[in-house]
Amino acid sequence: MTIPYNRQQSDHEKPIQGDLRTMRQFKTIDDLDVRGKTVLVRCDLNVPMKDGEVSDATRLERSAVTLTDLITAGARVCVLSHFDRPKGKVVPGMSLKPVADALSGILGREIAFAPDCIGPEAQAVIRAMKDGEVCVLENLRFHAEEEANDPAFAAELAALGDFYVNDAFSVSHRAHASTEAIARLLPAAAGRLMQAELDALTKALEAPEHPVAAVVGGAKVSTKMEVLGNLVEKVDLLIIGGGMANTFLHAQGIDVGKSLCEHDMADAARDILARAEKAGCEVALPVDAVIAREFKEGAPSDVVDVRAVPDDAMMLDVGPVTVQHLIKRLKDCRTLVWNGPLGAFEIKPFDAGTNELARAAAVLTRDGTLTSVAGGGDTVAALINAGVGAEFSYVSAAGGAFLEWLEGKDLPGVAVLRT
Ligand code: AMP
Repeated sequence: MTIPYNRQQSDHEKPIQGDLRTMRQFKTIDDLDVRGKTVLVRCDLNVPMKDGEVSDATRLERSAVTLTDLITAGARVCVLSHFDRPKGKVVPGMSLKPVADALSGILGREIAFAPDCIGPEAQAVIRAMKDGEVCVLENLRFHAEEEANDPAFAAELAALGDFYVNDAFSVSHRAHASTEAIARLLPAAAGRLMQAELDALTKALEAPEHPVAAVVGGAKVSTKMEVLGNLVEKVDLLIIGGGMANTFLHAQGIDVGKSLCEHDMADAARDILARAEKAGCEVALPVDAVIAREFKEGAPSDVVDVRAVPDDAMMLDVGPVTVQHLIKRLKDCRTLVWNGPLGAFEIKPFDAGTNELARAAAVLTRDGTLTSVAGGGDTVAALINAGVGAEFSYVSAAGGAFLEWLEGKDLPGVAVLRT
């Protein structure tokens, strides 16, 4: 069974150096001889639930790619994951059992479940497995030692298997026993989802085709200072939108009326602009905006020049002139990294700017002129709202880990996989 988790690179796309770099840096499951061996696979099964049922199975579908490949290769597959935040205590409502049942449906096979992730119960379930079978172990975070990256706990986990595979990029910014310490104790490799994520991020930021554009939107500058600081050093064009653009406009002496604006971040914004100039990175700020007096669906709205925002109005989206200008600029770019919406996209019509630019990026991606990578926070929801959730080269489901990568940080669960 193959479940699409990203758009495959098509023939007309140029090969990108990043592929080679990623392949050289990390072992993958193709490098492991797994037949008859127990493979511990760290997945992120922390899925949304409603009334005791999985309400969004995307993470399970993505995890199924690695699990299926290991099953096909004759491994005994043992899935490790956390679920929610039980804070080191056994919380029955945070059991992975219902999630394991949903995963069983997706894989189309029985899955054994161990009521603890270490000790005799886990050992017994693993001992009973045959080649090509799968088990899920109970919530790792029922043990406080997991989040403490405790070496003894990691050793107990490692003793359960022959190989370790990390397929949970989304938790690899945390040095936990199941993401960091365990990888030092067993032969370790990246799973398919991790591989796809690292490959996409490498193509986007570490070894991209230039010119590179980054879109950074969302609510506040204060939450993305490190992202902006890293990106000005790496990209050729930095497009700033959303509420954070208001802070940059204010920092340039523009009156933003009642718009969301962090006045105390004006110096920080000016510093980013100065660093961008020094690094030769062009910063694109909105020149026009969609304004309204109320933050609600269907509120009367208007388009104005950013220098003409009335005192009682809020900028809630970038305007059409800005969008057309950005689309034109994107046509000259080869790589795009996108984090954060250009406007208050949850409320119509303030999703129009994000929608139009995202759709233009999707067309350029389809035409083969742009590698487009998006992720973090509300970005996935914004792209789905624009109808292009599956049209980018890669859309990361990882929130915090994606942002930390954009900040230029070395993620502990990734660093330890490097050969
Ligand atoms: P973030 O989580 O930082 O990516 O921020 C996403 C949030 O920013 C979304 O909920 C948007 O509604 C909000 N946002 C984007 N643009 C604006 C804006 N101009 N004014 C107020 N909120 C905005």
